[in-house]
Amino acid sequence: MIIGNSGLPKPLSFFQNWGIFEKLPQRKRKTMKKDPFYAPGLRFSCIRCSSCCRYESGFVFLSRKDAELLAEKQEMEYTTFVKTFCRWVPAAGFGRESRLSLREKANFDCIFWDEGCTVYDCRPLQCRSFPFWESIMRSEAVWKNLDCPGKDRGTLHGPDKIEGYLEKRRKEPIIKREA
Ligand code: SF4
Ligand code: SF4
Repeated sequence: MIIGNSGLPKPLSFFQNWGIFEKLPQRKRKTMKKDPFYAPGLRFSCIRCSSCCRYESGFVFLSRKDAELLAEKQEMEYTTFVKTFCRWVPAAGFGRESRLSLREKANFDCIFWDEGCTVYDCRPLQCRSFPFWESIMRSEAVWKNLDCPGKDRGTLHGPDKIEGYLEKRRKEPIIKREA
């Protein structure tokens, strides 16, 4: 699940919004979680159309755990994995900070796309937790505008499950460094 420059789940501006949300104080976050629009649950079942893994430039950010699992899968040392499969993305509005993302191919497909996700069993948390991201769950309007054919169909995901994904993302932050 790529954070795209266009298409799913919406462009760089989406990433910037998400960055802004990350900076909100904890008190505000709790207020936002008090009566979330997703309290009755949300329906989502991926139909594997692949549009969020391919076609457009974007970012798949990695936590340390993501990178270690993927390195193990590639039978590589961690540093070799980062050099081979990753890139550092300067984060808009965060000074000299950069974040670790997977590389993409020349055609903008994810580096791990080959007629399907080749690392599906250990795909990054960003991919596994879509569409239950803070940047999407913060607003029903964002959810409604989400351009994903798996939205509002299939499995009903309750608020506890959704909160579980949000919490997991907080506990497994994206790898950052000073650029
Ligand atoms: S249904 Fe949605 S989540 Fe699944 S591959 Fe398509 S765009 Fe991605
Ligand atoms: S790691 Fe797999 S699921 Fe995630 S964007 Fe790449 S191909 Fe898609």
